[in-house]
Amino acid sequence: MAREVLMLKVGYFYRTEILIALFGLILAPGLWAQTRPIAIVGGTLIDGTGAAAVADSVVVIRDGKFQEVGERGKVSIPQGAEVIEAKGKSILPGLIDGHCHYRDWMGEVYLAYGVVTCPNISNNPVEWIVAQREGVKNGSVRGPRVWASANIIDGPPPEGTGTLRRQRTSIIVDSEDEARKAVRGLVEKGVDGIKLFERLKPQVAKAAVEEAHKYGRPVFGHSLDIFTSAENGYQSVEHSWSVVYTSIQDPKKKHDLDIGRMLGKVDTAEVHAQMEPAMFDKIIKVMIEKNVHWSTTWATWFRPLSTHAAEMKQRELALLRNPQLKYLPAYILKDTESFFAKYEKMAPEKRQEVVSGYKMLQEFVRRFTAAGGKIHSGSDPNHVVPGYAIHAELEMLVEAGLTPLQALQTASINVAQAWGKEKDYGSIEKGKVADFFIVRGDPSKNISDTQNVEMVFIDGKKMDTSFHADYKNPMPRPIEDRPEGGSQ
Ligand SMILES: [Zn+2]
Repeated sequence: MAREVLMLKVGYFYRTEILIALFGLILAPGLWAQTRPIAIVGGTLIDGTGAAAVADSVVVIRDGKFQEVGERGKVSIPQGAEVIEAKGKSILPGLIDGHCHYRDWMGEVYLAYGVVTCPNISNNPVEWIVAQREGVKNGSVRGPRVWASANIIDGPPPEGTGTLRRQRTSIIVDSEDEARKAVRGLVEKGVDGIKLFERLKPQVAKAAVEEAHKYGRPVFGHSLDIFTSAENGYQSVEHSWSVVYTSIQDPKKKHDLDIGRMLGKVDTAEVHAQMEPAMFDKIIKVMIEKNVHWSTTWATWFRPLSTHAAEMKQRELALLRNPQLKYLPAYILKDTESFFAKYEKMAPEKRQEVVSGYKMLQEFVRRFTAAGGKIHSGSDPNHVVPGYAIHAELEMLVEAGLTPLQALQTASINVAQAWGKEKDYGSIEKGKVADFFIVRGDPSKNISDTQNVEMVFIDGKKMDTSFHADYKNPMPRPIEDRPEGGSQ
């Protein structure tokens, strides 16, 4: 049913485009406002479809769309085009953050890292995030495109826990009617997607998903049981621990671990050591069958265990100490420093435990992708710089065994598909919106080259990717930056 609604939506857009195309024919070409075409010539093209990289390519952009894409010699460069030489460089689809929680200060940092779209996996207040989306569209906010989801919809807290800190801004529902009403309320306020949380009863979650799909809105959720979430029609499950909890077969062990983590008694990274790989095949099978994507969000929890950890730390601290970025909230530098320090000071037994969890997670990543599963790379900015975190995740995915081309899809087309927007976004293909970035080097050979960002384009327009000490968002978020605590 959901598919039908989505198809109808796609059909509607198609008709609109045909009408626009007809208009174009009726009006004399001279009357049609056209921008000067841009041709990017001589770079290595990684189009994001999974196709092999094309050395010595030509990419032509006109009126905000990719007009022609391919090998040099097979693509003509329009007369009068602005030519950008890209020898020794690569052209990649603009990054789409698989797990964004957009804040008013993030615009410049995202752009500097080639991130063109921030699909929010929860945000609030709903009016603010919707206003940000519109502000970016009309040019009053300098930052990535925003796709909005708003307050988390969740069930009542488990007995004995009191109100969970992270539930303070959630909409708590306990019946199917309440769930449907909550979804409708957010849809009416203009959200593009719906975020569900772990405490919803299965039938209540199901009602929320049905209602969201009725309006063509995708659903993203935290999950303690992926089998149920898949059955209920989620587009993706968020965070590595959704797999951890799902794999644990003893209900008491799972319950104690869940409550322990909720109350801050068990560290999130440590939870992963409890994973049961014997369940991996079953979990993978259902996720593939039901097309449930998965956000690893593992840079934010595990990057000190990466083989790239030393460079990561150095890069991040240098960035956070950049005087032009003095406007960033102080907690990011503080949290990043103490996060790396925590791993450095970790007792050997504990480190071994955490490493064992990370290794199992790598194995799941490998097997899930090999079976055709779709991963999302995302920031989930806890003790990590948003936007940058995606690049760290890409390095970690390649380390786990993905090819660089597979890794790149986790931060572009896979996310666009989950949001139902792959017709326009997520890859460099003729007719799609010209969101892309240019880097020095060749990420199809060395994934770390994604970080050598030179130019970023959104809607075919070159963005300013430098930092300005006086960067200001004209619409400050009206509540404290991180009152929620924990991953949202
Ligand atoms: Zn989150």
